[in-house]
Amino acid sequence: MKKIVIAGLIVLGGMLTSVSYQQTEPKVEYVYICNGSKAVCYHKTNTCNGIKNCSKEITKITKKEALEIKGRPCKLCY
Ligand SMILES: [Zn+2]
Repeated sequence: MKKIVIAGLIVLGGMLTSVSYQQTEPKVEYVYICNGSKAVCYHKTNTCNGIKNCSKEITKITKKEALEIKGRPCKLCY
């Protein structure tokens, strides 16, 4: 009886590990950028003090795209 319980725990543990692995695999991080010409960095949130002064519209894009467009993270929110 004890052996069956242990085997069950191993199977369950294996399932939980595989599920959490699948959830972390396609991780896409989104950031916010200001479309104004003065904006040179991307932001973690759209409520950051650095993006509040944005004169143009704020766009939500992936971190990968933000790195290509703006190049560096904001000093206030990162
Ligand atoms: Zn910021």
